[in-house]
This record gives sequence, C-alpha cells and structure tokens, in this order.
Amino acid sequence: MNIKKTLIFALALTLAVLAAGCRKSEPPAAAPEFAWQVDKFADLRILRYQVPGFADLTPSQKELVYYLSEAALWGRDIITDQNYKHNLAVRRTVEAIVEGYKGDRGDPQWTAFMTWAKRVWFSNGIHHHYSNDKFPPEFTPEYLAALIKGSEGAAFPVGDSGTVDDLLAFLRPILFDPDVDGKKVSQDATKDLVTRSAVNFYDGVTQAEVEAYYKKLADPKDPTPVSYGLNSRVVKKGGKVVEEVASIDGLYGPHISKIVHWLEKAAGVAENDRQRQVIEALVEYYRTGDLRKFDAYNILWVHDLDSHVDFINGFIEVYSDPLGMKGSWEAMVNFKDLAATKRADTISANAQWFEDRSPVDPRFKKKEVKGVSAKVITAAILGGDCYPSTPIGINLPNANWIRKNHGSKSVTIENITYAYDQASLDSGFGKEFTWSDEILERAKRYGALAGNIHTDLHEVLGHGSGQLLPGVSSEALRNYHSPVEESRADLFALYYIMDEKMVELGLLPSLDAAKAAYDGQIRNGLMTQLTRIQPGKTIEQAHMRGRAMVAHWAYEKGKPDNVISRQTRDGKTFFVVNDYVQLRRLFGELLADVQRITSEGDYAAARDLIETYGVQVDPELHREVLERYAKLDLAPYSGFVNPVYTPVFENGRMVDVKISFDEGYVEQMLRYGKEYSLR
Ligand code: ZN
Repeated sequence: MNIKKTLIFALALTLAVLAAGCRKSEPPAAAPEFAWQVDKFADLRILRYQVPGFADLTPSQKELVYYLSEAALWGRDIITDQNYKHNLAVRRTVEAIVEGYKGDRGDPQWTAFMTWAKRVWFSNGIHHHYSNDKFPPEFTPEYLAALIKGSEGAAFPVGDSGTVDDLLAFLRPILFDPDVDGKKVSQDATKDLVTRSAVNFYDGVTQAEVEAYYKKLADPKDPTPVSYGLNSRVVKKGGKVVEEVASIDGLYGPHISKIVHWLEKAAGVAENDRQRQVIEALVEYYRTGDLRKFDAYNILWVHDLDSHVDFINGFIEVYSDPLGMKGSWEAMVNFKDLAATKRADTISANAQWFEDRSPVDPRFKKKEVKGVSAKVITAAILGGDCYPSTPIGINLPNANWIRKNHGSKSVTIENITYAYDQASLDSGFGKEFTWSDEILERAKRYGALAGNIHTDLHEVLGHGSGQLLPGVSSEALRNYHSPVEESRADLFALYYIMDEKMVELGLLPSLDAAKAAYDGQIRNGLMTQLTRIQPGKTIEQAHMRGRAMVAHWAYEKGKPDNVISRQTRDGKTFFVVNDYVQLRRLFGELLADVQRITSEGDYAAARDLIETYGVQVDPELHREVLERYAKLDLAPYSGFVNPVYTPVFENGRMVDVKISFDEGYVEQMLRYGKEYSLR
C-alpha cells in the first residue's frame, strides 16, 4: 500500500509540525537558496526534494543507487501506456511541439497549451491523477493544428503512411471530446466498470468476461494464491479472452529488457548476498512474467532488512484498476535515514525513564515499557506511478498471505515530507496564520525538527505507554477510542518535548525548539486544520478530533492565567501562546486524565471530552479561515522533479556519482522523453 497522496495535502497544512502517524526526522538544514517550488500550474505545484545522506554513501552504494535509478526511470512509458492506450501518442505529440514549434510562444493560447502539456506529464496521461477525469485543453483544435503544422521537422507519432492531418483527426476526439474516454477509472458499479474505464488494462472485453476469466483461474482454497492478473492486460483475440503478460518477451518487453539490464548491473554491486538474491529474483520474474516468482521475490525482499539501499520496482498498486487486480508500474529507490533511526533509538532506549516520570497515576503506568523501532527512509529517485506525484510512505508487499507469514516493510519517506513542510512555510500559509515574525522564524528554524521529535515521541513512546486496569477492554471507549488514543499519544509527546531531558539527550538544541511545537499544535488545533473541513461540517477524522480537543481544552483551562490568547489584527484572528510553562502543566494534567479514561475504560468521560472540545466548529471562525486560505491560492496537489545523478568514471570504472538539483520541470520531462522512451 502506498500511504496515499491525499495525506500529503493534509500534511502540508500542518506547518511542519504534528503529523501524527507519519515519522519524520531531521535532515541537515537546507541551504537558504534552495528553491523548494519549481513550478505551479492548474491545481498543481512542482517541488524539489533533497537527498540528505547521499554524499555519505560508499562509492559502491552510490553505483547501486545509480543502476537502480536507471531501472526506475525506464518504466515511465509503461505507466503512461497503462493509464490510457493513446497516452504515449499524446505525450509524443506534446514533446514534439514543445521542442519544435517555431511560431509565437508569447500567444496566450501557447500558455494554455503549455499548462495542458505540463498536466499531461504530471498525470502520465490525459486524465487527472487524482479525480481520474480527462482534463480539457483550454485551447482550440484549430490552435493544435497550427502548433503541429508550425513544428516542422519535429518527430510526431505518425505511422509510415500517416500524415499530420491523420494525426489531427486521430487526436481531436481524444483531446477535445469529453465523452470519449472521459474517465480513467469508473466507480459506477451499476454499469460495466471495464468498458467504461479508459484505463488500458483491458481491451475489447466486458467486466463479465474478465470476471469469468479469473474465476476459472483462481483456486479459493489456495492458502498462498498468486496476485492474479497483477502484471497483465486482458484482451480478446480471435474471439477468445486472453491475457497478455508483461515480461521480457511479452507485454512491455522492450522496456522490461531495459529494466532488467540495469537490475543486473545493480545485482553486480549489491551490498550483500541477500540483496543480490532479491534483485536476481526480481529479474527472474521479469524474464518469465511468472507471478509465483513475484511472490518469491517479495518474500526475499521482506527479509532484507540489513541492506542500506532498498528499492521498489514493478507492477504493484491496484488503485487504477476498476476491478482491483492490475498493478500500475511504479518504482522508488531509497536508503535508510540513519540520523532519524538513531534519534528514535535514543528515545526508545530511554522509554522507561519517560514512563516512570509521566504525570499519570502510577496505577496506570507500565512497569516495563519498550519503545517501538522506527523505519525512516530517504528517497533517491521516484519513477513510474510514484512520479511526479508520490506517496509519503510505503507499506508492502500487498499479498495478505505474505504479510501474515513473512511480514511486511512499512516505512515513511522523510525527505519527501520535509520538502512538503519547507515548501508550505514558503508558500504564504505560515505568514497568514502566524501572529508574529518571531514565531514564524522560530517555526522555520525549528519546526521540522520539533515536528520530528514530536512524531518520534508520539509513535515510539506515546502509543505504547500506560496500561489498562485489569478487566478493562481495549474497546471500552468504542467510537471515541481513536481520537482519545491519538490525543493520548500527542499529549505524551507534548508533555515531554518541553522537558530538559530533550536537550540532555541531544535531541533538541534548546527548549526554544519545543516552543515551535507548542505554537504549531495550538495554531493547528484551534484554527488552521479547519482549512480541511467543508463549510457547515463538523470535525470527523480521529487525529483531527484529538488535536482539536487538546487545543480547545488547553485554551479553555488556561483562560484564567491567559496561557493562550485570542488576538485580532486587521480583522484576522490569531491564537498566541503566552506562557509555555503553564501550557506544559496543562498538557500534563490532560494527559493524566486521558490516561485515566483509557485505563479505566470510562466511556462517558471520553464522550464528554471529545464532544465538548474535539468535534464542533465555530462557524464564524471557520468561514474566516477558509476565506483567508482561499486567498493564498495554494495548489492542492503537488509532485516532484527528481535530482539528476551523473556517474564519474576513471579508467572505465564508476568511482563516484554526482547529484544535482538544478533541472527544471519541463527540462526533466523532455529529457526523460528522449532518454527513457522507446518507439
Ligand atoms: Zn498516532
């Protein structure tokens, strides 16, 4: 499973703090001139990510990353073709025009064309990556004709006998007629899902035919079934329903051949035998298309925990198949984030110290407590369906029996979330909702670090702390269990992030960093998370209820001492923390109560706490926040350009790999179109 992209938007709004459920760590401070955002168009923005730690890899690990990156980039045509059968022809037309058009590039229609072209690249096709709807060009068919005819000498995707007019006749309905293949994935279960979806997993077959085909194949008693249909297309040939299986000699053969070429080079520089076996097993699967071999590869992969470098490469997630069987091709290369792992280990090693000193009743404390280990990675390249739009975490493999019998790997991708946070701070969002420059500066300086430590405390210690009284069921709080549990882990983190122990353990440079966490928690819980709620709605999501409850409770209880004040400037509302010591005391008090509620299974108290402080929305403040947010005109979806890896050779041997971050979005798309595409 990909920890989905919808989460990302939510994350970007938390202002570098408090993304409970998502691990974060401390990347080296970014060079101030690093431009996180490289482009913005339609509802999208393009960001860059850094790859902290790449320079510290050994030459051989860098070589491995390089080969795996090439294997990751070679699948771009595959995902584009999977998304819709005419996408490659469309993309090649786009590339030919962008490179070859000799007419006026100052024309407003040219701008409209470029926006559409960038969207085609972003979605790996003509359908929106999130809504799955075909996005209409905002230029005319006549303008497209003028572009094609004005790009003399450019390599358009026309066959031997084809003419430019044939191409135009072919493209016109595909691009301009909303009724032609308008939906990539149909969700309307009352109609034929297969014929009504434009996605290219099926051709000439009906839903009933596909279902009958797989029903015959699958053995419901098989305890270890393969993922039927994962790497194939179902088509009709000579009146019969058949599968075209992806393999080196089959479907996508020429691209898979390239992928295999680079994987084999990677196997030659693997860090250890186990990793070499993993790569070889994947190659074996690509050679044969045999799904049993894909399972064998996954089992080896799950057990490869020691290698520093890791990767995903294949037909994996099934979100784009209306029948949920066909895997979209995706790839990612990554390596362990050692700093983050070390930080979480430090916290984990002191788990008992924290438990013993927490402000809760001793009856509710664990006598022996262990921290959970952290798994944080740094992405080095994104490919296929992970590019440019990318998940912030990965939890694989998907086959249930492998997960049950062999386990799974669940990781969060630190440098991607960091890029989101930094871009968000630069976006105007921070300035709009922060009371003073001083507080904003502190957020920029410490927000990411404080957010990481908060998340570590929440995940590594918070959820695992405390115990239920004998006889109390873990389901006692029923529908209030999740928000109470999330607030409990958050409060544990908030209480301890302001403890001198953080500085003593070298986790925070000073408690000023903890102030950034408090500022963020209060601002988010009382105000900025409302940007994610529709007008007239209440708060539903568990993490959000937990955060709202903690912030509103602290605001109310701190009123006599003015711990948090509500300020207004130019008609805009702000919440400002005035007394961090008192606020910590309040967090401790609430932690003690929430722990009591949990330990005793006190349903009525849980309900009162959540319903009083965590659900309702002040409609007037909500309206104001939504208006302020809309004015910022932030793009709701983001994606990334990749860094560029350039190998350095000496006497024919690769001795180093240089990394650079200066490639632009259009530049990268055009280069990939040339270097990683086959006609
Ligand atoms: Zn949590």
